[in-house]
Amino acid sequence: MVDMALSVNNIHKSFGGIEVLKGISFEARKGDVISLIGSSGSGKSTLLRCINYLETPDQGEISVAGETIRTRPGRDGKSHAADPRQLEHIRTRLGMVFQSFNLWTHRTILENIIEGPVHVLGMARAEAIAEAEVLMEKVGITPKRDQYPAQLSGGQQQRAAIARALAMKPEVMLFDEPTSALDPELVNEVLQVIKKLAEEGRTMVMVTHEMALARDISSEVIFLHKGLVEERGAPETVMKNPQSPRLRQFLQMV
Ligand code: ADP
Ligand code: MG
Repeated sequence: MVDMALSVNNIHKSFGGIEVLKGISFEARKGDVISLIGSSGSGKSTLLRCINYLETPDQGEISVAGETIRTRPGRDGKSHAADPRQLEHIRTRLGMVFQSFNLWTHRTILENIIEGPVHVLGMARAEAIAEAEVLMEKVGITPKRDQYPAQLSGGQQQRAAIARALAMKPEVMLFDEPTSALDPELVNEVLQVIKKLAEEGRTMVMVTHEMALARDISSEVIFLHKGLVEERGAPETVMKNPQSPRLRQFLQMV
């Protein structure tokens, strides 16, 4: 399965005895866009965080480009601790974009983008800058190159955060509600960038409440309800002809 970019297999996660993820599986081939939808509290962010081990799954397996994250039982005999060195490597294969842009506030936009390539990947600074220039152009923030995050609008900051994630040349981009923290008039510029990435064939997993975006660019839409996959399928099927009453209700509300 050479073209499998991401494989999520039977992920379970509890917090304080409450099981938030109850066995979630899905796969993304190269170029797939998987959209995770569902009500607040259904476990979408936890699932995304489990994929890059920001949260350690209690059970289940994650593979990125065919490489499975190795785990051993944690001290409580339940949670799995991952090998830190492998994790560091695998995390460079996963670009994460959060709701709240998470740029380094004391660094310019250019410095934000080249930080990972230079310090994590060991790329020469001149090369990292040349690649950053291409990415800034792609997301439309070239004029902001030498400014600090606080000098940018939310939409510009989020586009810079996307460029920063892309600079690591990740196998899969993970987006957690990338437009939810934005003023309404700034949402579209970020959606356009995400759309462009999908058209370029980027593999992406995104949590989103933007149903039009999910409908337009997804290979598969997965509706989570209380930590389980309640319904999944091609966007036109899931969104135009939902079977589950809960999904029908959800789609009416968003
Ligand atoms: P969603 O992103 O779908 O809104 P989350 O994954 O953020 O849902 O949360 C799912 C459930 O897990 C919620 O009930 C939330 O309160 C709980 N939860 C998430 N993270 C933690 C945590 N670190 N500690 C305790 N509970 C958590
Ligand atoms: Mg969330």
